[in-house]
Amino acid sequence: SIPVITVDGPSGSGKGTICRLLAQRLGWHLLDSGALYRLTAVAARHHGISLDDEESLQVVAAHLDVQFLAGTTDDVKIVLEGEEVTDTIRTEAVGADASVVAAMAPVRQALLQRQRDFVAAPGLIADGRDMGTVIFPEACLKVYLDASAEERGSRRYKQLISKGLSASLEDIVLDLKARDARDMNRSVSPLKPAPDAVILDTTKMTIEEVLEVVLDEAKH
Ligand code: C5P
Repeated sequence: SIPVITVDGPSGSGKGTICRLLAQRLGWHLLDSGALYRLTAVAARHHGISLDDEESLQVVAAHLDVQFLAGTTDDVKIVLEGEEVTDTIRTEAVGADASVVAAMAPVRQALLQRQRDFVAAPGLIADGRDMGTVIFPEACLKVYLDASAEERGSRRYKQLISKGLSASLEDIVLDLKARDARDMNRSVSPLKPAPDAVILDTTKMTIEEVLEVVLDEAKH
C-alpha cells in the first residue's frame, strides 16, 4: 500500500509549514485538508448559501469544483469554479467560516472520499485535524503537533505582518482559542491525537527541529 504520514493539530501549530517541507524532502504529495473546508465556506458564500443550511452545504462540499494547480509543492495555485482563490481562502474570516461548516457531519462525509483520493505514489503527507483519527487510520506514521495558544498566535501574527497586513495579536489569540474550542468540542471528528500518534509540543522548537524529529520517526 502507498505510505501516508498524517499531521494533525490546532491552527498555528506549524502543521502547514512542516507538511510542505516534508512533502518537498520526501518528494511526496500533499493534502491540505483545511483548504477543502475553507473552499466549501467560500463556495457557499458565492452561491448565497447560509452557513446554517446543512443540506445545501453538503451539496456544495460534494460538488466542489476545485483545482490544485501544482507547479512545485511549495507553490500550489487553488482555483475554485474557475477563479483563483489561493490567497482569499487564507483570511481569518474564511478560517472561522471553515470551522463552522467543518462541524457538520454531512459536510465531512461529503469530503471524505475526495481526501482519500489524494493518496498517490510515492506517498502522501496529510495535513489536518482528523487525518490520523478518521481519514487515514492506517497511516504509517501519525504526528500530532501542538503549541501554546500564545506561541501559535504570535506565529500567525508574524506571518500576517510579514505579508504587510495589519493585525492585532490579542485578537488573533482570542480567535485561535475560539476556533480550537470549536474544533475540539464538536461531536463529529473532534480535533484530538490518534491513540498511536507521536505528539510533539513545538512551543519551544524551531521548524528545523520539528522536521528532523518527524523525518527520523518516518525512518522507523
Ligand atoms: O487548517 P485550516 O486552518 O486551514 O483549517 C480551517 C478549519 O477547517 C479548521 O479550523 C477546522 O475547523 C477545519 N478542519 C477540519 N478538519 C480538517 C482540516 C480542517 O475540521 N481535517
